[in-house]
Amino acid sequence: MERSGTFADADAEFEDAQFVVLGVPFDRTTSFRPGARFGPDSIRQHSWNFESYDLETGVDLSEVPIHDMGNAGEYGTASDMVQGVREEVARVYAAGKIPITLGGDHACSPPCVEAYPTPESLGVLYIDAHMDFRSSYLGDARSHACSSRRIVERVGARNVVVLGVRSVSHEEVDDNRSIGMAYVTAHEVASEGIESAVQRALNMLKTDRVYVSLDIDAIDPAYAGGTGTPEPFGLTPRDVKYAIGQVAPRLAGLDIMEVSPHYDSGNTSALAARLAREAIVRSVHARRTR
Ligand code: MN
Ligand code: MN
Repeated sequence: MERSGTFADADAEFEDAQFVVLGVPFDRTTSFRPGARFGPDSIRQHSWNFESYDLETGVDLSEVPIHDMGNAGEYGTASDMVQGVREEVARVYAAGKIPITLGGDHACSPPCVEAYPTPESLGVLYIDAHMDFRSSYLGDARSHACSSRRIVERVGARNVVVLGVRSVSHEEVDDNRSIGMAYVTAHEVASEGIESAVQRALNMLKTDRVYVSLDIDAIDPAYAGGTGTPEPFGLTPRDVKYAIGQVAPRLAGLDIMEVSPHYDSGNTSALAARLAREAIVRSVHARRTR
């Protein structure tokens, strides 16, 4: 584990922590423009921008035990990364803590889900502009273009909903006809409103616990252009904030992937950091008010 600056307010030891931050600076499967390997440290750096006190909930993050494990090591291949990340996140789950994983490209998400002790009882809200449902891409089944498919194979199609999708290949749509992974498009969010869209998505997930995988490109490039494959007509930051708040009482873990900080002036990193903090704050608040 390499330490390179911690996430803000993550001053607890691993044993005492309720939330554990892990960085995965891996972007070897990016298909358009690389740079997500710089995401974890940039998100950490921008996390220091924020007050620890949350105005909406009254939760003070300086009073919440958070540990930052640092970054996972360098991996030469996606399959090495998958094995390494799975082991790190499994340690977090084994200790009864909630992992917050910062990527890295979206290939880093499936091992986070696979690390859950009982994946068949885990729901996954997969927030993404893309469907990521290819069985293989450029000869690699562990490409970021295949991540929802790998997750479906682990938790089952009925336990996954994609939110915010607006870019998909003909083949992915055809494949999914027989597999049946549910999705709520960004266009549906725009027409029906985020409250209804999120309610519909979460009602489809019958599990007690829900894992959130956030590909930052789900959010419109006007707000989150610091990413590898920007896709117009996206969700707003507030849409995603709302979705995270609604999942919070059931939150099993969160990852935020595909932040590629060199393509903007830091706003995408700041947004990612703020959304990670939102997940922690809302999860703590949900426990307190239960
Ligand atoms: Mn993705
Ligand atoms: Mn994407």
